[in-house]
Amino acid sequence: MNRILLASAFLLAGLSTLCAAEAPPLPAAAAPLMKSPAVKLVEPHLHIARSNISGHARIALTFDACMGQADERILSTLVRARIPATIFVTARWLKHNPAALAVFLQNPDLFELENHGENHIPAIDTPTLVYGIASAGSPQAVKQEVEGGAAAMTAAGIPAPHWFRGSTAKYDLSAIGEIRAMGYRIAGYSVNGDGGSLLGAVITEKRIASAKDGDVVISHINQPTHAAGEGVAKALVDLKMKGTEFVRLEDVEDMGDDKTTE
Ligand SMILES: [Zn+2]
Repeated sequence: MNRILLASAFLLAGLSTLCAAEAPPLPAAAAPLMKSPAVKLVEPHLHIARSNISGHARIALTFDACMGQADERILSTLVRARIPATIFVTARWLKHNPAALAVFLQNPDLFELENHGENHIPAIDTPTLVYGIASAGSPQAVKQEVEGGAAAMTAAGIPAPHWFRGSTAKYDLSAIGEIRAMGYRIAGYSVNGDGGSLLGAVITEKRIASAKDGDVVISHINQPTHAAGEGVAKALVDLKMKGTEFVRLEDVEDMGDDKTTE
């Protein structure tokens, strides 16, 4: 029995795109919501236009900076190998990581910075729980999460964002419509690189290094103490050696499902 429970827990961790270890505490008021009817949630896919050149797969690396610190293993590899990437930052993360922000801003040819929200609250306009985190719960709260993230970015000297990715990468369809109406494209992904930063280094490296032409990889750049980051950094080198063309989301055509980009 215990073994089954453990296996299920590991499976969940593997599938999750959330940095669970950094989940904000559950507000007391959210507890009764656990019994509320299930909201239909989607976790949209995103692909980019392929290069269609054999041996030169085109891949968009995306990193979430949810809260916590900056992962220097990943950041220094990106800078040293001159690998472009799209970084989704929250207002919370920006406040605590001025040095990493400075590196991003000093390398505008490498880093596109986009909106991961104000407080890392799932952008779902109905009350529910995702991995134990209370959703925004109303259209007004979704709007605040998105606008609060953007306001912190521009206040920090970052160009106004055009892409949004919510905490947990899950949404309900009405919230997708609301965020699209605010002028954003919504960033899904096609390869879950690090399982919410909870996977081991070897499996993370394998997952990311196996990305194919047209893939959008999600992983985390805010968990310097997790083994996953070591795997991410190694995979970057693996991909570079393979002749990968790295692009940012702003550089290419894209195709997202669930009406996230059309
Ligand atoms: Zn996040």
